[in-house]
Amino acid sequence: MERWEQLKETQPLAAQMLTNSYEKDRMAHAYLFYGHRGTGKREAARLLAKTLFCPNVKDSEPCQECRECRRIDSGNHPDLHWIEPDGASIKKEQVLNLQKEFTYTGLESDRKVYVIEAADLMTVNAANRLLKFLEEPSRDATAILLTENSEAIIQTIRSRCQQIAFQPLNQNKMRDYLIAEGVSRSNAFLLSALTNNVEEALEMLEGDWFANVRKLVIQLTEVLQSKPNEALLFVNHQWMPHFSEKDTLQRGLDVLMLWYKDMLYEHLGREESIVFIQEKDKREHAMMRWSRAQVTACMSGIMEAKRHINQNVHPTLVMEQLTLQLQRC
Ligand SMILES: [Zn+2]
Repeated sequence: MERWEQLKETQPLAAQMLTNSYEKDRMAHAYLFYGHRGTGKREAARLLAKTLFCPNVKDSEPCQECRECRRIDSGNHPDLHWIEPDGASIKKEQVLNLQKEFTYTGLESDRKVYVIEAADLMTVNAANRLLKFLEEPSRDATAILLTENSEAIIQTIRSRCQQIAFQPLNQNKMRDYLIAEGVSRSNAFLLSALTNNVEEALEMLEGDWFANVRKLVIQLTEVLQSKPNEALLFVNHQWMPHFSEKDTLQRGLDVLMLWYKDMLYEHLGREESIVFIQEKDKREHAMMRWSRAQVTACMSGIMEAKRHINQNVHPTLVMEQLTLQLQRC
């Protein structure tokens, strides 16, 4: 995310508030960006830093080309400090080091920006140290704290920050965002139905795991349809090896659920809701086997399987039961 215009698409309120205060020269000394993972907090912090350092800002947008902008992109800006948890927490020493840095003036100006990621993971000592720091703001320093859990940050720090909420993305915005990030349309449709977390969606696309899930889901229904006697074999030899953990199996079942849901949408004539946008032929073929009532019964079976996995029933057993149930539907 390189421009406020883009952030306005996904986080209109946050983008509006930040650009407004910039335009009116009313930037706060400290910000707290809070919201779920994958809502763009980190990108917004980088964009805000660029806006503050770039000498060629126009309509709030940094130029992206000057030395300042480029050094921020490469993570080498001397006056932008980025603190992440050291292990499980942010320690007092990290905040002390930051303060030490601040006693030197910047090379080109006095402006400094520091970003504290997962600020809720500050130890009590670190938080108290930071609080002292926030109480004596130097004129040109801007703090940006990021958190998924703002309740875990002590009230005295929160009250010194301007709090900016990052909202979970709705499905359409999520899909458009992924497409803008270069994700294929067919993956963007499916992923945005699975999660509203951009980072999680992009992580799922790493390697060929997700492409294989997509394939396995369709193959499973094809086997159920054309060679039902081989379905259990397919589940044991093809399906299970791909889902070694409880979480990934839940994901697989989510995708299977979306496949049946699409069949239901097609039966109901709600094609605009379909997320397997490339598999129309296969869906139509599957619909010869599963009527609307049967699709609904299959969906109940999948939901039940998901519940059983949560209750720690053995995954292979759950999948075998589900397969038998899908055969009977
Ligand atoms: Zn610039």
